[in-house]
Amino acid sequence: MNVTQAEFVISAVGPDQYPEDGLPEIALAGRSNVGKSSLINKMIQRKNLARTSSQPGKTQTLNFYKINEKLFFVDLPGYGYAKVSMSQRQQWGKFIESYLLNRDRLRMVILLVDLRHPPSRDDTAMYDWLSHYDIPICIVATKADKVPRSRWPKHLKQVKETLLVRGTDRVIMFSSETGLGKEELWSHILQHTDD
Ligand code: GDP
Repeated sequence: MNVTQAEFVISAVGPDQYPEDGLPEIALAGRSNVGKSSLINKMIQRKNLARTSSQPGKTQTLNFYKINEKLFFVDLPGYGYAKVSMSQRQQWGKFIESYLLNRDRLRMVILLVDLRHPPSRDDTAMYDWLSHYDIPICIVATKADKVPRSRWPKHLKQVKETLLVRGTDRVIMFSSETGLGKEELWSHILQHTDD
């Protein structure tokens, strides 16, 4: 997709701050440092709109980015950093859980994992939790440029087998460095947001 407009709208700390434009929303989840901000910047063709390496464990907010007046990316706080893990749900944020469960404009969650390593227990917990509530999921395996191409199939298999990915859920390899996977991810997002 050609992104002509992208703006940061709000860091919401509660539901009363969510945008009321009625546009569809795509949420992004992943442990801290997985490459979420870099992916957002790559997808929207901006160098630095999403803040990279935002401090883990900081105030838990939902960051809304409006794209082409068509949809929102909703950046969820990174999980799995030190003491902020999915096993400590309260810390990760009841209101984030509530957003994921109750927001009717939420069309899909992009779950980022690092292609280089097997998904962590927090990644698996997140995937299981989203699956349990029947929230549409797309798994994106980041930092593919750091894995030699010849080993991509092996690493992809490791991601799928560790998460026990359901056949209906897409897994896309991605690199914020090379742009690998960008168009595939856009086309998948648009399938979920075009009515
Ligand atoms: P976040 O905490 O999930 O938002 O992660 P960031 O986007 O801040 O990325 C964490 C670190 O990984 C930064 O140093 C990025 O430059 C690096 N990084 C993110 N994505 C990629 C990628 O696709 N390839 C490479 N080589 N580095 C990446």
